[in-house]
Amino acid sequence: MKTSAAILTEPRGPVTVASIPVAEPGAGEVLVKMEACGLCHSDLFVSSLEKLPLLPLTLGHEGIARIEALGAGVAGWEIGDRAGITFLASTCGACELCLSGRGRFCSRQLNFGYTVQGALAGYAVVPAPYLVRVPVALPAEEAAPLCCAGWTAYGALREAGLHPGQTVALFGMGGLGHLAIQYARHLGLRVAAVDVSESKLEMARLLGAELSLLADNAGRTLQKQWGGADAAIVLTGSPAAIPQAFRSLKRMGTLITVGLSTNQFELPIVDTVLKGLSIRGSFLGTRADLEEVFRLGQAGVGRAHIERHSLDETPEALEKMRHGEISGRAVVVF
Ligand SMILES: [Zn+2]
Ligand SMILES: [Zn+2]
Repeated sequence: MKTSAAILTEPRGPVTVASIPVAEPGAGEVLVKMEACGLCHSDLFVSSLEKLPLLPLTLGHEGIARIEALGAGVAGWEIGDRAGITFLASTCGACELCLSGRGRFCSRQLNFGYTVQGALAGYAVVPAPYLVRVPVALPAEEAAPLCCAGWTAYGALREAGLHPGQTVALFGMGGLGHLAIQYARHLGLRVAAVDVSESKLEMARLLGAELSLLADNAGRTLQKQWGGADAAIVLTGSPAAIPQAFRSLKRMGTLITVGLSTNQFELPIVDTVLKGLSIRGSFLGTRADLEEVFRLGQAGVGRAHIERHSLDETPEALEKMRHGEISGRAVVVF
């Protein structure tokens, strides 16, 4: 069998849509028919890397699918079940991190659309252990962004450990940011939204951001308006956001970096020490966070604004995303 897929045939090469073979599912794998797959900045990140572990590589890690066939030894899934594909494809299951519910930091993990073939294909053969159950009541194109953007945004907010009434500054109002505002409001937090685009800030206000600030000077403005934020979460891969987010913090505040970039950042040591600031990365979230994101989605919290595309439009939609021209999330609908 053959299917169409959005692939890279060389590192840093263009993303093209081509016909690829689909194998029979092996032990522990399932064959799925994709319903929808969101496009993520991490797809651009993968296509910018100097080396790739797998070529040709099918991109995509934000997929909603129906199970078509089960490989040997797959338990708990039936043909026709709906499953979500995230960035996490498998982990070793035996290391300290895996055994303590933090498998997303396992050094032996495999990732969809990076070290295993991804979800931007009509059909895909995928390892079963990390597939997530997705409520059938959610339309596939609305559920897809929850698999990465929603999970990651919710995970970062939970990582910040804030209490209702505290303040959070969210840097980057793209796919993650527009969901992060909704989760933050649901958690009872006061939200400042920061972006370089006025139209994205307008959307942020509609979603419940109390403050909406252009990125230049956002740190100083937040100090003036709120005396700083309890946490600042950088959801964009733009390195310029990090010093602004740092400047926006209250004493003993927490800076959380989420957006991926191959750049470095430099921050003042004196302020970090004397203000007792914490700086940490956040990657995806816990399994419980992922299940909660779907539960919330079904309850109408964390509704993704989506722009529908066909698989053939993937290369152009990725370019639009690179230039910040997508409002909410671009989703390929099969
Ligand atoms: Zn992603
Ligand atoms: Zn492990």
